[in-house]
Amino acid sequence: ALSLRLSAVAEWIPPGRVVADIGSDHAQLLIALSRSGLLNRGIAGEVNQGPWENARHRVKEAKLEHQIQVRKGDGLEVLDTGEAQVIVIAGMGGPLIASILDRGLQKLERVERLVLQPNSGVVHVRRWLHRHGWKLDGENLVREAGILYEVVTAVPGDPHEPYRKTPLPLDAAFEVGPLLWMERHPLLLDKLEAELEGLNRILSQLESARAPEARSRLESMKQKREEWRRWR
Ligand code: SAM
Repeated sequence: ALSLRLSAVAEWIPPGRVVADIGSDHAQLLIALSRSGLLNRGIAGEVNQGPWENARHRVKEAKLEHQIQVRKGDGLEVLDTGEAQVIVIAGMGGPLIASILDRGLQKLERVERLVLQPNSGVVHVRRWLHRHGWKLDGENLVREAGILYEVVTAVPGDPHEPYRKTPLPLDAAFEVGPLLWMERHPLLLDKLEAELEGLNRILSQLESARAPEARSRLESMKQKREEWRRWR
């Protein structure tokens, strides 16, 4: 069975599609979709040798080579344009996810849905989607082994729409998540508290540093802390 985190990713994948899982490692997601009869065809992409071998081994073991292809390469370069209807990128940092999307722009032309699960820095992912004409149409937060994971999904469309519904300034909404905010997601407060705690830790480290750069960074972090307090 899939972990809670990967189940939250799978929830957004419509049935019967060609699904690419970029940075797939164990290929668990595609294997589970196939076993549930929800997958048309799967493409697992991996840039690193170890995880690529791992994916190949798991797919072979599951006897799913006819349905799931494991390809080696960086980001979306493993795909032909128009090949995948759904692209999943899960379990990496937000900046890396945004850079994979950015470097593969033309591969996104006919994609109907992106399902993204950044382990950190989700703000980079929301900002990228907003800038590139993707309408955020689902967000979720799940807690597994004490860690909060965020999943966001988007379709081609008016990127402003979900943001218009919130009273938050755009930069704040990129951090908080407009849909999580609107539905008052039960874990959102926990997430903001965790961020605040992280900020406070950084602040106390900065306070003991004397360099002038530390001082100006300290000021901007303090401002940010006040913003977080307001949004909660
Ligand atoms: N997606 C799986 C999940 O969510 O459980 C595995 C996540 S694993 C922590 C991240 C994987 O992304 C690693 O196996 C790594 O090799 C792969 N990866 C990192 N950068 C990549 C890139 N530019 N293109 C393809 N794969 C990449």
